[in-house]
Amino acid sequence: MSELLDTALQLDQNDPLKRYREQFYIPVDVQGKAKIYFCGNSLGLQPKEATRYLQESLDKWQSQVVEGHFEEPDPWVSYHKLLKAPLAHITGAHEHEVVAMNNLTTNLHLMMVSFYRPSGQRYKILLESGAFPSDQYAVESQVRFHGYDPEDAIIEVKPQPGQETLCIDDIVATMQKHQEKIALVLFPGVQYYTGQYIDIQKITEAAHQIGAKAGFDLAHTVGNIPLQLHDWNVDFAVWCTYKYLNSGPGNNGGVFVHERYANDTSLPRFSGWWGHDEKERFQMKKGFKPMYGADGWQLSNVNILSASVQRYALEMIARAGMENLRKKSIQLTGFLQSCIHEADPEGQHVKIITPTNPEERGCQLSMFVLKEDKKLFQKLTEAGIMVDWREPNVIRIAPNPLYNTFEEVYHFYEILKTTLHVY
Ligand SMILES: *Cc1c(COP(=O)(O)O)cnc(C)c1O
Repeated sequence: MSELLDTALQLDQNDPLKRYREQFYIPVDVQGKAKIYFCGNSLGLQPKEATRYLQESLDKWQSQVVEGHFEEPDPWVSYHKLLKAPLAHITGAHEHEVVAMNNLTTNLHLMMVSFYRPSGQRYKILLESGAFPSDQYAVESQVRFHGYDPEDAIIEVKPQPGQETLCIDDIVATMQKHQEKIALVLFPGVQYYTGQYIDIQKITEAAHQIGAKAGFDLAHTVGNIPLQLHDWNVDFAVWCTYKYLNSGPGNNGGVFVHERYANDTSLPRFSGWWGHDEKERFQMKKGFKPMYGADGWQLSNVNILSASVQRYALEMIARAGMENLRKKSIQLTGFLQSCIHEADPEGQHVKIITPTNPEERGCQLSMFVLKEDKKLFQKLTEAGIMVDWREPNVIRIAPNPLYNTFEEVYHFYEILKTTLHVY
């Protein structure tokens, strides 16, 4: 047996999280053979038991009908509260600082309504260059909404020439250079394309030092890296739950709003009845009185069918524990990195652009395909490996510590090596 395979099997055997894999549906090919799924950064696998909570909600709807809003068990009127404990664990927040609602882009708009408040000289937003398109469109439209020109009002930080990832000192230096002009600093935690983790605490501190607000898009960060959003003093954060949180396609996203704004009625916000003081919500009176904390930003009643699935998925992550997931994730991705190196020792075929330091990345590795172009991706796909291709030449590989194994990483290595040998 090869040394690498031996290592992989050992690591799997000693993996304290190994029992979670069988709790997911693993995709299979036409012969029924399990595929190797490394796309959990895009859409997490389906937890088998999630249908139990979904079925309960369907049954409740069938039997209790409209009374289900207030009747036990789990009245719909407060269903979103069931998601708070696991979300607080995942984001390092108090329960009143988080709420599940809407989708990520909607939430980003709602947060910018409250936290992007341009005035006088201070009207610019600092972003990374190459931000996820939805974030770019949201930011551009917000800037225009306030009457500014995106060309002028958006400042982008780029990687150094010849580099693929951002240097945190450059981000801080850019903030200082434009310190009177920046109203909002908006960064991802983990960058979707490169897999780089950008230190949320440092960015927040630097933003606050220049008098700007710090917001984060945590689409690729929640469930991937343990967070301490409260202690790091982050102003707001938004996320979706279908990536590392395994809640299913298009499920409800979420927001974090720091406790210091919990009672802040001076912040402008776009309001709806679900954000109104719940004690008076059904009195149907005029005059919006926000709920304490993140709940005050809710617009609508929660999508219960989605939230049921999400509830199971989030509880599962909280049970596994973010610290345990991270520990395995560092090992698993480290193993993947050595395997890629073994398959292409001279670095002639592929180049990993994700930082090699585990502190600066989550579980995803992104690699440039130097020679083979999209054919390499197609060959991997034909061999039953699910990774993704991002134009112009990147393959993203994200082994998820909740359901992927070291042995799968080993098989990926075998296939990659064989494929590269053909060229
Ligand atoms: C996945 C992702 C989104 C998706 O936005 P939705 O509103 O949930 O469709 C947005 N931003 C980033 C950075 C993402 O990775």
